[in-house]
Amino acid sequence: MLLTGAERIAALGYDYDAQPKESVSHCDLCGGDLFVVVAHGDRYGFRAEAHGCARCGLVFLNPRMTADAYADFYRETYRPLVSAHHGHLIDAETVELEQAPYAENVADFLASFVIDREVSSILDVGGSTGVVTEAVARRFGLRAALVDPAPAEVERARRRGIDAVVGTIEGFDGAGRVFDLVLLCQTIDHLLDVHASLAKLRSLLAADGLFFVDIVDFQAACLQQPTVEDAVKIDHPCYLTESTAEAYLARTGFRWLRKDYAGDGLHVGYVCERCDPDPAALPATASVDRLFHEIRRVHNRPSP
Ligand SMILES: [Zn+2]
Repeated sequence: MLLTGAERIAALGYDYDAQPKESVSHCDLCGGDLFVVVAHGDRYGFRAEAHGCARCGLVFLNPRMTADAYADFYRETYRPLVSAHHGHLIDAETVELEQAPYAENVADFLASFVIDREVSSILDVGGSTGVVTEAVARRFGLRAALVDPAPAEVERARRRGIDAVVGTIEGFDGAGRVFDLVLLCQTIDHLLDVHASLAKLRSLLAADGLFFVDIVDFQAACLQQPTVEDAVKIDHPCYLTESTAEAYLARTGFRWLRKDYAGDGLHVGYVCERCDPDPAALPATASVDRLFHEIRRVHNRPSP
């Protein structure tokens, strides 16, 4: 008998309710404390609430699992859960197959900027098994370093000759090094503290270095899914839009040079250079209004 996604997830026995959690009292982007509950559960059926900051439109899980609970989650549950949701195996090997064309797209996107600079080293944050790191490093002839929280994936990255360490960007010790190119690929939505992580990344980037980051645009995700809950997942504590991503970049001292709408309609990539931080940068009020308007439209969309 074929199991449904919900049955496959139930069979994993992951007790989300029992995980240690902490509540978020202030918005990580703007510091505001007026939140709107936009979803009461996630796509897996877990009781995870997503809140939107009324002032800036940042969306985040609240409460959310603690850093230790997330570390356990990435070690044991994340890949099996995503596999159960999709109904086929997703592990370190299948992820590598998907990442190869993605890596070529990232390298193509960066090429015209890399060519004008002295670029000799790369740090890939949340770099998984190093497929993207290796492809970009090979294309531009770079020394490669990587940090990722999943030990099995870091082990595979080491086998590619990458200087790879297990950990998060918050805890990463650069030992005084700076990097000419820093990547944050399909990772920012997994971070617990986006502002501090971006600030740390900036400190690891050479003065004339390049930073690549991409987001899953939450507004686009809501529009692509039948419900807002389907755009929420416990693996993403944070949900960005173009407006909130660009405010984060400005606040933490990055100027974007080019923006890329991926073919899936969902991911938005930015290549950035360093600039002076603008600690007061905020999304335009109109973009915040539009986000909540779109969320309400998805809430009230007739069922198919
Ligand atoms: Zn906010």
